[in-house]
Amino acid sequence: QTHHKIIVIGGGAGGINVAARLLRQSHIDDLAIIEPSDTHYYQPGWTLVGGGIMKREATAKPMADYIPVGAKWIKDAVVEVDPDNNCLKTRSGDLFTYDYLVVAAGLELDWLKIDGLLDAVGKDGVCSNYSYDTVNSTWETIRNFKGGTALFTFPPPPIKCAGAPQKIMYLAEEHFRKAGIRDKTQVVYMCAGPSIFGVKKYAEALLEQVVKPREIETRYKHNLVRIHAAKKEAVFLDMDANREVVVKYDMIHVTPPMTAPFFIRTSKLANKAGWVDVNKDTLQHVRYPNVFSLGDASSLPTSKTAAAIRAEGPVLVENLLAVMKGQQAKATYDGYTSCPLVTGRGKLILAEFDYDLNPKETFPFDQGKERLSMYWLKRYILPIIYWKGLLKGRKWPLAGD
Ligand code: FAD
Repeated sequence: QTHHKIIVIGGGAGGINVAARLLRQSHIDDLAIIEPSDTHYYQPGWTLVGGGIMKREATAKPMADYIPVGAKWIKDAVVEVDPDNNCLKTRSGDLFTYDYLVVAAGLELDWLKIDGLLDAVGKDGVCSNYSYDTVNSTWETIRNFKGGTALFTFPPPPIKCAGAPQKIMYLAEEHFRKAGIRDKTQVVYMCAGPSIFGVKKYAEALLEQVVKPREIETRYKHNLVRIHAAKKEAVFLDMDANREVVVKYDMIHVTPPMTAPFFIRTSKLANKAGWVDVNKDTLQHVRYPNVFSLGDASSLPTSKTAAAIRAEGPVLVENLLAVMKGQQAKATYDGYTSCPLVTGRGKLILAEFDYDLNPKETFPFDQGKERLSMYWLKRYILPIIYWKGLLKGRKWPLAGD
């Protein structure tokens, strides 16, 4: 059994940000990060990879380069947490105890929930931006598409980056126009949710500027349940009529259902839905005051994004340091999150909003309009902010800090 003062579970956007901030802001001498992966992925880049704009390799960097100086990296995966005894177990059977725990293990893609998907994805017109292994298949599929029906699915939330399932549709639709095959192509958004976007301002902007003029069809409350790859058929549950609908496709971009990681779902840290049960303002666990969580694994009722972590990280760190000094957790997070809605090469609507789904925009102009400048922000600036700002625990002007 090994003891650490602070253990951070997960070396993704949230875990690395918190660890780097803690080490920058105070004299912590004993912080360990438990993370099994050799590679750190910049997942927001996968939309651009799938759209043929960025190389997949640009989104992957060695984990070792981003573990902050002063942190100990335990290259293993957590399989059990026992918060009553401040104890956890890893896959290789090692036991660790902690004084303080930060859970930032992200979420799990549930490919198996859709019959036939795991075997189908990555070939024969079935693709997905949601993993490094499958993201190249998206651009391959779009590039080789010769016309017909192109489906883009959105599963029941919560999912990470709720805008990503439609961003790739806009990039694909633009490509079909450029390739001269748009007139023989039907582009359909098959969405388990009730609308194109949760925030009214951006939903209206998307419908008026993008969906209607570009003749994209939308079918809401339709949830993908099965894929017959051999017949190129996708089966959806029409949630209102409660019956199955079969749709023939020539290509389908699938966003898989997502769940909280197994070790969280099965631990006392979880709320009913499986996510780490934290106070939505302070990010402190509602039953275990020495446990905090942020990012995709947390119960925070906001849209799960790396941008949200930019705002969650400082709050978590301030509160954790306060609790370590015997004080109350007083810093609060307002639910800030952001979704850079790429609508084409050179066009982007930058959605930013809070828990109440009120826009909370950074720039002094209407971000509900498609803009080239905001596309450049996504293409060139946000990756720098991610690798050099967020992962280094630095303060940046954009949002949250
Ligand atoms: P992650 O970054 O996923 O990190 C979780 C880490 O935990 C991983 O390194 C994993 O290996 C580790 N882990 C998992 N299980 C265990 C375990 N048992 N023990 C120890 N470690 C474990 N966000 C934006 O802000 N803007 C965007 O435009 C955007 N677009 C996106 C597009 C796509 C296609 C996708 C997939 C995501 C997008 N996101 C976007 C979302 C963003 O990438 C995530 O919200 C963000 O990475 C969440 O950070 P996290 O630290 O919670 O999880």
